[in-house]
Amino acid sequence: MRAPELIRKKRDGEVLSPDEIRFFLDGFTAGTIADYQMAAMAMAIYFQGLSDDELAVWTDAMLHSGEVLDLSDAPGPRVDKHSTGGVGDKTSFILAPIAAAAGLCVPMVSGRGLGHTGGTLDKLEAIPGLTVSLDLDRFKRLVYDNGCAIIGQTGEIAPADKRLYALRDVTATVRCIPLIASSIMSKKLAEGLSGLILDVKVGSGAFMRSEAAARELSRKMVGIGQRMGVHTRVILSSMEQPLGQTVGNAIELVEAIEVLRGGGPADLVELSCTLAGEMMVAGGLVPTLAAGLARAAAMIASGAALERFARMVAAQGGDVRCVEDPSRLPRAPVEAHLFVDRPAFVAGFDCEAVGMVGMRLGAGRARADDAIDHGVGLRLHARWGDAVEPGTPVATVYARTAEAAETAVKGLRAAITLSAERCPPPPLILGEL
Ligand code: URA
Repeated sequence: MRAPELIRKKRDGEVLSPDEIRFFLDGFTAGTIADYQMAAMAMAIYFQGLSDDELAVWTDAMLHSGEVLDLSDAPGPRVDKHSTGGVGDKTSFILAPIAAAAGLCVPMVSGRGLGHTGGTLDKLEAIPGLTVSLDLDRFKRLVYDNGCAIIGQTGEIAPADKRLYALRDVTATVRCIPLIASSIMSKKLAEGLSGLILDVKVGSGAFMRSEAAARELSRKMVGIGQRMGVHTRVILSSMEQPLGQTVGNAIELVEAIEVLRGGGPADLVELSCTLAGEMMVAGGLVPTLAAGLARAAAMIASGAALERFARMVAAQGGDVRCVEDPSRLPRAPVEAHLFVDRPAFVAGFDCEAVGMVGMRLGAGRARADDAIDHGVGLRLHARWGDAVEPGTPVATVYARTAEAAETAVKGLRAAITLSAERCPPPPLILGEL
């Protein structure tokens, strides 16, 4: 077999056989197929797609480019959640300890923020001392002992995906449904799961702008999961406004801890508990989502979920005093508020623009090697549908300098739509697959 012939076949819309796909991906992993050949193949796939059979083999080859965790002797069902990424999404810190307290094992391998979207690892690292770089043996031990642990993608997990993603990033082939589906699923299935819940975001702050595209991606991922014998379900959720009130790193953790203490914004509680409930169904702990929701609420009310979170933080070397007293987490010194000049209603967000405001404050990165400032961020006091009036802040930003704060306030002003009439927010949960 020769790489140029396989690229030609895909370019011309032909179907690649399982052997051809394995030859190509195994060669890429081993270094006998060059980056430029893989980049050309990615572009061919961008235009021609992959059939479901091709996609399953492609994903399997990516998954086996590295280690697959063997968690078969775990003390509970192994179930994880993955989100396609958004603005203000801090559900992982809430649902992982809820699910662990309920009896699941959650081996969460997460990502970093890029562009307007935040990253779970960056947020967690706002806790002084906490490490997300654990070797796989230690990771497994912590999942078995505490029910959950959160680490970054190591060189051992799906290394072909890591290299391919970097190539896609510089060849305009990121927004391609089969490549996204195989990228996500290869990493998640390398965790050795029995169940996986996917939170596929739709809207102005999401990868997928239309519900149709989100459903297509969801169908592909569910198909891959089912072929691999993993109970896979999707919750489609709206990313037309940030999730919860906060965007940043430490500030999002504080909000997640509020939820674990029984408070927090209703949308964040609803989505976190729904995903945790679905995880319990996938793990066979409860028969229905309604029972999962009740169990999730009980884990919060009893303090068991907060206690799990504290255990996870301590086990990963973090200063657990920040869980007891979140005011110890970093907070940038300059505060500025956004005010309106007349009474109105919030009638929408450019959610990506809100994420970009956070990124430019320093909470995220424009390039993969940019440094993060854990203490900057923003809080939206008013959400879609809320009334706002002069003299009461609509949002507060936390910045390092007065200039940065002023720029952020201007950015938020432009990102929030106001109306004289109240118009209700879109539903948070758009459907399931
Ligand atoms: N997230 C991933 O892990 N991979 C993609 O291709 C897109 C989003």
